[in-house]
Amino acid sequence: MEKNLDLKRLHVKAFARDGVSLNGAQPLAFFERLADLATAQSATEAENTHVQWEISGESVPVAGGEAHIFLHLKASVALPMQCQRCLGPVHSEIVSEQSFRFVPDEATAEAEDDESEEDLLVLTPELDVWELIEDELIMSAPIVPKHPVCPTSVPMSASDESFEAALAERPNPFAALAELKKKPH
Ligand SMILES: [Zn+2]
Repeated sequence: MEKNLDLKRLHVKAFARDGVSLNGAQPLAFFERLADLATAQSATEAENTHVQWEISGESVPVAGGEAHIFLHLKASVALPMQCQRCLGPVHSEIVSEQSFRFVPDEATAEAEDDESEEDLLVLTPELDVWELIEDELIMSAPIVPKHPVCPTSVPMSASDESFEAALAERPNPFAALAELKKKPH
């Protein structure tokens, strides 16, 4: 049956009822808005970046009522970004793990939102799981990406430059000699 599962139009209720689990890896470029956050160093790096994902459905029986429908989602990506401290490349490990419970309508969602641990979504006949995965990862992405500890840059070029600058500032011995020669005896 898994061949028939279209994650762009998932029938959540059936997915939960059957307790289906799926996982895979999707190229970063597939998620346009998420890819916009990335600053890959090369095309190869961008191509090699994948979003790992897994989803599972669960239907929890409720005494005297309709079963609760759950979708558990886990997604992660090592997003190439730019460190805002040292401006070097950094891979931000973005991980999102979230459970969603589906309720019949917006009113129920609002009424039960405060007492629910999980996120509540209104049940639609077809759920775009890709969009959900992308939204969750974007929400978990760092606003200010940074290395936990920036790589200590050995300022070789900087010290070379200052060495050269120091040399340039030193009076040229030949120029000094020329100055001497110009001096009237
Ligand atoms: Zn850094």
